[in-house]
Parts: sequence; structure tokens; C-alpha cells
Amino acid sequence: MNRSDIKEIKELFSTSQNVVIVPHKNPDGDAIGACLAMYHYLNKKGHNATVVSPNDYPNFLKWLPGSEDSLKFDMQNRQSKRAIEKASIIFLLDFNALNRVGDDMENTLKEFTGIFMMIDHHQQPEDIAKYLFSDTSICSTCQMVYHFLEKLKDVEVIDAVIATCIYTGIMTDTGSFRFPSTTSTTHRIIADLIDKGADNAKIYNNVYDTNSYARLQLLGRALSNLIVVDKLKTAYITLSQQDLDEFDFQKGDTEGIVNYGLSVENIIFAAIFIEDIEQKIIKISFRSKGSFSVNKFARKHFNGGGHDNAAGGKSELSLEDTITKFLNIIPKFKNELLTSYEE
Ligand code: 5GP
Ligand code: MN
Repeated sequence: MNRSDIKEIKELFSTSQNVVIVPHKNPDGDAIGACLAMYHYLNKKGHNATVVSPNDYPNFLKWLPGSEDSLKFDMQNRQSKRAIEKASIIFLLDFNALNRVGDDMENTLKEFTGIFMMIDHHQQPEDIAKYLFSDTSICSTCQMVYHFLEKLKDVEVIDAVIATCIYTGIMTDTGSFRFPSTTSTTHRIIADLIDKGADNAKIYNNVYDTNSYARLQLLGRALSNLIVVDKLKTAYITLSQQDLDEFDFQKGDTEGIVNYGLSVENIIFAAIFIEDIEQKIIKISFRSKGSFSVNKFARKHFNGGGHDNAAGGKSELSLEDTITKFLNIIPKFKNELLTSYEE
């Protein structure tokens, strides 16, 4: 996104526009935070913005201001399609390939003839947006939304509500400011967001200290299912559909569990395999420390992608066969795994 793009975007937004803002399917804190920040910003500037999420998201994100106004494409299909038909501009936030919204919504978006704007920090963005703001070094799309408003010279428009949304996404995508992608710039932005009214302690509480008892029990099961492959510095967790059913699985309950694998001493590569009988897939999350790229690993072997140190993918094999496949692949990466991260 260069200076002339910014000039064009400013011109475009000099008159009131109908805008739809879209996160990826199964949106996380960064995706929803970015969408709602953009939603409040655009409405404040006199535009008519609507967030259309491909599907629902976890309860621990529903307290976010404006969440109640967001549409779910799968559940509010007619209303969502109408918003998209009316729109002249569609923002694609926190994803870089149209198939990340799921088949149904992808087909609708493919028919859109207006302007796509993409803001995202994942690698290898598809060439689908007229205006692309892509930076894989930035910790979160929410931080990029802040930079986008800087480019538009509109940081002053950020109020407590917008600051809360942006703060939430930066917090969740940086593992509460601890991942290497957290920079001094991130902290300066966070300081500014707190000055603008983001309540850091409350945001943390709303996202992380609202566990149900069942979710903690599920975490207990996941931890007892943890397997450590010491000689490859790898740890993985499995959760079968039966495990999920036993603990009344709700959307979002498994988020973050993969990180426990990475918290084991000496482990630099962690995975979680979660069975989804309804979709007939095993959903996988990968995390790593250091130079071992789980983005490449997920792309090559599990039909996925993401970032170098956090990625996801899927498998259409059974849970057992997926694990067998995984265990057959990882020895091939022995050298990389053993040299990825120096303590
Ligand atoms: P998570 O493991 O938390 O679901 O996702 C980690 C990162 O990988 C996120 O940035 C997410 O967008 C990305 N990701 C997760 N699953 C997939 C997938 O199936 N395909 C692609 N391309 N990216 C994914
Ligand atoms: Mn993100």
C-alpha cells in the first residue's frame, strides 16, 4: 500500500460508502478485533459498515463492542448476502486467500465486482485485492489496522471503543505480548491504546478468565493426552470427538491448548489434532520456536498454512491415521528440529 493508494483510499472515503468487513472462518481475537475496530472507525466517519463473519466465534469474544451487530454468513445468509450486494467496498481482514472464508461465502465474494481491500500479516497473499496492506513481520492484523489509520492520519479518531478492539487482537495474537513478533512499536501502540481508554486488565479478564468448568476439564484431558517425542523436540496433543463430547465442547474451548506442548522444556515443535466428526476432518494447529517453519510444514503436508511459528491445517484421514502420518513425517525434519532454537 503506497502513498498513491492511500490518496485514492482517502478520496474514496471522502463520500459515504457501504462497506462490508470480513474476517476468516472461525475468527480469532485478532480477526474479530480488527473487523470491529474497522467497523466502529468507518461508522464514526459517516460510512455504513457491516461486519459479516463466515460463521460464529467463541463467547470469549462476544463482549467486544459491536459484536452484537455482526452478521454470521452461515446463520444470517439472506441478510449477509444483501449487505454484500449493497457494498461498494469489502475489507478482508486477517486472511490472505479467499478460500479461508469457506466455500459458501467464497462463492458469494467471487461475484463481488466492487473494491476489495486486504489488511493481513500472513505469508504469500493472493492477488485479489485492489488495495493490499500486507506485512508478515507485524504481530497482528489489529496492529496493522492501527498503522492503516496512521496512514490515513486518523489515529485521533481512535476512541476507547476502537482502542479496546485493537488492543484485544494485539493481545491475543501475541500470546499476551510474549511472542517474538511483539516489538517496541507494538508496546508503544499498546501504551497509546491504554491512553485512549482501553482497559487492559478488564480485556484480559474478559478473554482469558471466563473459562467454564467443563473447558478446564477438557484442558485436563488434553494435557493427559500429551505425548512428548523428546528426540525430535516435538510434543503433540490429540482430542477425539469423544473427548470433546464428554466435556460439552463449545466453540473456542480448544483455543490455545496447543501452546502447552510448546511449554514443555526443550520442545520447539507442538501440534494439536482435534477430531471433527461432523466435518469429517481432523483440524490441526501447529506451533514452533525458532527457525522451524510450521507454515511450510502445514502447507506441504496438511493442506494448511499460517505463519512461521503458528499455523494450522487439516487432514481427511482418521485421527489415528493422521497421527501415524505425522509421526512418519517428522523424522525427516530431524536436523531442522534439533537446530531450530538455541536456548
Ligand atoms: P490456529 O492454529 O490458531 O487455528 O491458527 C494459527 C494460524 O494459522 C492463524 O494465523 C491461522 O489463520 C492460520 N491457519 C489455521 N488453519 C489454517 C488453514 O487451514 N489454512 C491456512 N492457510 N491457514 C491456517
Ligand atoms: Mn492474526
